[in-house]
Amino acid sequence: MSKVVDIEDTVTLRTYCHSCNQDITVPVSRAIIDNAHSYPVSHAHLHGNPSHILILYVDSQYHIRGTELSETITIERSRKVTPLNAMVLLRIPPRYKRTAMAMLKLHQANAHEVATITGKKSKVESYYLGSLFRLGYLERTRIKNYYQYSLPGLVS
Ligand SMILES: [Zn+2]
Repeated sequence: MSKVVDIEDTVTLRTYCHSCNQDITVPVSRAIIDNAHSYPVSHAHLHGNPSHILILYVDSQYHIRGTELSETITIERSRKVTPLNAMVLLRIPPRYKRTAMAMLKLHQANAHEVATITGKKSKVESYYLGSLFRLGYLERTRIKNYYQYSLPGLVS
């Protein structure tokens, strides 16, 4: 458990990971350690396959004082919404185009309503609409047992 390389902005720390069952190197920004409010500084290193997290406790001299392993992580992301419009239509995956065009026409609809326009099955549209939602092009609200999709920013 020691510092091995010391280049400008980054310090490369070496430690043993009990999940990998081997030594690993962890690059840590010098600034994180130098500007810490207290020591040891905790630094989480996500790595490996399957992914896991090794939390390093590093003192002011860049020495690792301890480690802790975490096999799980929760990452919360704020969804970035890009409202569907004619320009967006040009760059979305081709298989979603008819669904997207139907939504531009309907503004607000469920999979069944979109299916009546595209001529595909509701189940297929439900999948496409879900993908467009995840890509941030549509918003959705759950109504009983189905989703109502709408163009972002639309007042319903
Ligand atoms: Zn590991």
